[in-house]
Amino acid sequence: MFNQEELALLARQLSALEASFSLLPEYKENEALAPMEAVLSELSSRMADNYPYFHPFYLGQMLKPPHPIARLAYSLCLYINPNNHALDGGRATSAMEKEAVAEIARMFGWSEHLGHLTSGGTFANLEALWIAKMLRPGTTVAASELAHYTHERISQVLGMGFEKIPCDAAGRMDIVELEARLQQGNIGTLVVTLGTTAAGTLDPLDAILALKRKYHFRIHVDAAYGGYFSLCEGLSVASRSAFEAMAQADSIVVDPHKHGMQPYGCGCVLFKDPGVGIHYKHDSPYTYFSSDELHLGEISLECSRAGASAGALWATQKLLPLVAGGTFAAALQCSRDAAMSLFQWLEEEADCVTVLEPALDIVLWFVAGASAQASSALSQRVFDKAAEMNLHLALARVPKKLLRDKIAPDSAFWDAESVLCLRVCLMKPAHIAWLPQIKTHLRVAMNEAVRTPAEKA
Ligand SMILES: *Cc1c(COP(=O)(O)O)cnc(C)c1O
Repeated sequence: MFNQEELALLARQLSALEASFSLLPEYKENEALAPMEAVLSELSSRMADNYPYFHPFYLGQMLKPPHPIARLAYSLCLYINPNNHALDGGRATSAMEKEAVAEIARMFGWSEHLGHLTSGGTFANLEALWIAKMLRPGTTVAASELAHYTHERISQVLGMGFEKIPCDAAGRMDIVELEARLQQGNIGTLVVTLGTTAAGTLDPLDAILALKRKYHFRIHVDAAYGGYFSLCEGLSVASRSAFEAMAQADSIVVDPHKHGMQPYGCGCVLFKDPGVGIHYKHDSPYTYFSSDELHLGEISLECSRAGASAGALWATQKLLPLVAGGTFAAALQCSRDAAMSLFQWLEEEADCVTVLEPALDIVLWFVAGASAQASSALSQRVFDKAAEMNLHLALARVPKKLLRDKIAPDSAFWDAESVLCLRVCLMKPAHIAWLPQIKTHLRVAMNEAVRTPAEKA
């Protein structure tokens, strides 16, 4: 949250920006403060109806607070309120968008690319699949059963067929099942998820690339959540290989508003071949797309977009460059270490069943009851008890298959096809320092959930 020093810093830089326009005849907005204060006071009390996303005790959904530099930069840009649709609407922030996006592309090993920011991961994925449709008309899109639900809906919007490829017990796209499906033909594009939304698992991109050489499909990597972890060092060998293979994808999506510490409204789509720009409707010759004088609106489906998003991202990357071994990478490492530490602790708690060893920073587990349904009810109670203590978790339904190494598929435990699990995303760098307190509270919540039977079962 803004503190007083940050607000003073913002005021200083707003004055500096204002001074740059001092040659204009003086013009000031003079909106009366009192009525605005009355409305803002109502707003601040209404905004209290939220979970405390900014606090380390919030570890539920994928909600990471923006970095202070991003909040300040975004606010500073609002003095201008640029629109990155065209250079006419936002010259400076369009240039910053190109620089920031090029740095993201370099993080994935691309020195050349076509790409831009979007309002979020959904729109970024829509553009990637739209280009895939232009290049492979009449073909089907396939994605793992743990892929984000948006791919199925986007395929529907685009009028493309969509199919799910089963996962293995580790939550990764099953390579044998994939090849069996590829042999039947007509898969034009495969969505490879690096960092699934539910479990943070990574599809085996390196092995999938070998199949691409044989079956010639396009590869779209949805790394909306996980992409930035390519900068991390302490990952498993399998995760490392998947990230290293990203440079060979055809398109990539990453969400700066997830792990990139940006305010909402910041996704990013990248294409390996700048030539795909030809498919965006435009009047200019193809060479226009590799020119520096590019209007971003000519290579994006969305028209008006906040230039402030680009300003915030540019400033964040200036302060925290996207390099292995840098401060930004170290913060992600903290998240990953926190997840491993919580996972190991849960493994040792006799009444807990962990789902998968975390590939990134998401941990899933449940308190073992007599059956799947009883365990699901327990998860709900732990969730409620923790919330009463201001510790905010999330819940996720986990299919029986992902637990087959833990509980035999024919066990009497299975009175349902899935079990509701507790899920936490340890996205904040501060989570690691707060783990001792988090564990203490979790233990209390789990004990109380076991002790107090459900009021109405
Ligand atoms: C979050 C997410 C999306 C959707 O992105 P939004 O920014 O929420 O629109 C798509 N795919 C994956 C893997 C995600 O984690």
